[in-house]
Amino acid sequence: MDTVDVVVVGAGPNGLAAAVTLARAGLSVRVYERADTIGGGARTSELTLPGYLHDVCSAVHPMALASEFFRRFGLASRIELRLPDVAYGHPLDGGRAGIAYQSIDETARGLGVDGPAWKKLFGPLVERWRELAEFTGGSLLRLPRNPLVAAQFGARVLEQGSPLWGLRFESDVAPALLSGVEAHAILPLPGIAPAAAGLMLGTHAHGVGWPVPVGGSQAIVDAMAADLLAHGGEIVTGTEITSLAELPPSKAVLLDVSPRALLRLGGDRVPARYARRLERFRYGNAVAKLDLALSDSVPWANPELRRAGTVHVGGTHAQIARAEATIAAGKHASRPYVLVSQPSTIDSSRAPEGKHVLWAYTHVPSGSNIDQTETLIAQIERFAPGFRDTILASTSRTAVGEEAMNPNYVGGDISAGAATFGQLLRRPTLSPHPWQTPMKGVYLCSSSTSPGPGVHGLAGWHAARRALAVEFGISKAPELGL
Ligand SMILES: Cc1cc2nc3c(=O)[nH]c(=O)nc-3n(C[C@H](O)[C@H](O)[C@H](O)COP(=O)(O)OP(=O)(O)OC[C@H]3O[C@@H](n4cnc5c(N)ncnc54)[C@H](O)[C@@H]3O)c2cc1C
Repeated sequence: MDTVDVVVVGAGPNGLAAAVTLARAGLSVRVYERADTIGGGARTSELTLPGYLHDVCSAVHPMALASEFFRRFGLASRIELRLPDVAYGHPLDGGRAGIAYQSIDETARGLGVDGPAWKKLFGPLVERWRELAEFTGGSLLRLPRNPLVAAQFGARVLEQGSPLWGLRFESDVAPALLSGVEAHAILPLPGIAPAAAGLMLGTHAHGVGWPVPVGGSQAIVDAMAADLLAHGGEIVTGTEITSLAELPPSKAVLLDVSPRALLRLGGDRVPARYARRLERFRYGNAVAKLDLALSDSVPWANPELRRAGTVHVGGTHAQIARAEATIAAGKHASRPYVLVSQPSTIDSSRAPEGKHVLWAYTHVPSGSNIDQTETLIAQIERFAPGFRDTILASTSRTAVGEEAMNPNYVGGDISAGAATFGQLLRRPTLSPHPWQTPMKGVYLCSSSTSPGPGVHGLAGWHAARRALAVEFGISKAPELGL
């Protein structure tokens, strides 16, 4: 059997980030991917009609400019990332809306009475967005490089994650705007982990923006794959690995898979104590997805929302909290929280002239096999009368379908492990090097490891640097830029 220095299993953003880092260090790297195309949660495809390019999973990329891996890789120089003026918007009944512009000042002006409170909440974090990204971009068990930003972030997380969350606001618009971004965590509100997710993503919205790649999320992983191939790496698609014993001999194996899959792949090789720790890793609730081809842009009652890359649909803080509590109780919400992205409003390459694509998902209980098309359309229609008439074609995926498409999304959990506070510290186990397993040469590099979900490549980059140091004695991180 042929040999390579390193094998990577899984060509998601983290697997590719690991592969790029290792190849840049001069090692021979081979990536195996079960799907016929690379990219995992960052693929783009004509899911509805010819000429309509839909993001199969991720669509908007708050970490594309904030991730230290992508900054070192020079992602912004390799592909075109477009920044919508409105990072995210949040409709309320009666045509009102909260609007998060990239400019924090403009956002505060739009929030009226709560503008100063918004600026006080986010201002200090936005000034130090880079340090915040560094702090939240690795294992939280390390000492922060900038203790001040960690303290400022921590204090705000404790406030927004507690019953005190609403004290600083007077109207219902700012709390709704914040809840929309906190609800990305798929957890009950208020809570420490949703507050952390909301404050981190909200900071990036004002600090660097939430970009959308021209051509779709596939552009990100294609740029990584091109760099890997240019540095001698190989990618083998259409090959599912079912046991570590199937792999060619190598000094290191990096797995872009869930802890559950690692237990299966490793079999008897996984030490019993580590296996018990991985078995305690919990998977969270799930999503059901909807992709639409539209004859026109969404007729939002509030026209400012037409400029938004992302729209959080679901109403007031109380309505979203109720919907998320329903999901946490294992039931489906009749008026759920819906994440909407409308990339074709700033990237005309996604659809034929004058036409649009719409990407949306909602939260559902783990393992749900109930199609959410009607529920999603009704929620959007609530804030965009006439929306239904713009639909040309649709395709949907249940939570069960999410896992069938990608086994990392256990039960349809797109975070590959509940992003609770405990599991942000212990991801997947409590260790300053959570990517390293006790098996010689075997590393986990998926979003089930720190820093968790999102297209940022950081888990792969950290895992690769650890493997370089431990298995190859290379402690200097390789150059990744163009
Ligand atoms: C519907 C949806 C919407 C999302 N929206 C966003 C968003 O807008 N912004 C954002 O930042 N993030 C978003 N995410 C999350 C983001 O896509 C993931 O966090 C990210 O892709 C994780 O990267 P990864 O490399 O760890 O894993 P993945 O992207 O899941 O890649 C893992 C890869 O490994 C392959 N694989 C698994 N097991 C094997 C095996 N045994 N053999 C061979 N190959 C294997 C899989 O096929 C897959 O290609 C979304 C995810 C989903 C599903």
